[in-house]
Amino acid sequence: MPERVQIVEVGPRDGLQNESSILSTDQKLKMICDLSNAGLSRIEAVSFAHPDKVPQMADAEAVMASLPRREDVSYIGLILNWRGWLRAAETTIDEVNMNVSASNTFNLENQGSTTEESIDVLGQVVETASEKGLPVTGTIATSWGCPFEGEVSLERLLFVASAIAQTGVAEIAIADTIGVADPWNVTERVRAVQDAIGGIPLRAHFHNTRNTGIANAYAAIQTGITTLDSSVGGLGGCPFAPAATGNIPTEDLLYMLERAGIDTGVDLEDVVAVSLQLAELIDHPLEAMLPRAGGFPGATTT
Ligand code: ZN
Repeated sequence: MPERVQIVEVGPRDGLQNESSILSTDQKLKMICDLSNAGLSRIEAVSFAHPDKVPQMADAEAVMASLPRREDVSYIGLILNWRGWLRAAETTIDEVNMNVSASNTFNLENQGSTTEESIDVLGQVVETASEKGLPVTGTIATSWGCPFEGEVSLERLLFVASAIAQTGVAEIAIADTIGVADPWNVTERVRAVQDAIGGIPLRAHFHNTRNTGIANAYAAIQTGITTLDSSVGGLGGCPFAPAATGNIPTEDLLYMLERAGIDTGVDLEDVVAVSLQLAELIDHPLEAMLPRAGGFPGATTT
């Protein structure tokens, strides 16, 4: 078991982009600042997707322009294509995350190009970003299954993972975009991808669509993953993946890790406070269990 696990908070991006109520720029800024104050040191803050397709993220430039710079926090911008990169490069993001889907159909639907074309773009992004000193993560969407193609074979996943590794990315993330994985095939696929990408750090991204998200996180950690994505409250989904629901909730993941004695540097109570505020802002209860149940109980006095 690792001593430390790093959590990448994706609520401001993956979370909010699937909410029907759109937060104002100021509300987003407060959310991101509260999350960094809770100790989250890597935050996916914005997406440079086309504003017509993802209106929730249309103010990406404005968010980045007003976010306070912090030495101890890295802000990540998501891109889907070269155009997104050109927008991202004009902002003060600290890291780039580019999506490439293992499923070619999903890639076409999500970003309008084939998987191979996206991998070529990723290579160009890595080259240009390195001149600016920006690390790039390649995220493999639909690593466990696709809403259009169904099963994504392990061979296909490994082919895409190897091609992404060749681009020189600083990190690779495997994403269960539609929440279909189970802990046993998490173990199998994490192990196989680790072998295929050599020494490149691997990160995992789970959705709790079928209630296997936390079990999948456990399996990933047991297989050597030490960086996991989650979203406060379990906000989120994917506008192009029918019925995809939220990411694994940050506070529920934190609870599990804390009970196991794994250090994250994140304050659980602070994250619960952000989660409760967000539920009010977006006007519906969130999926996370911790805000309802509370943490581990203390002894009651008689
Ligand atoms: Zn996601």
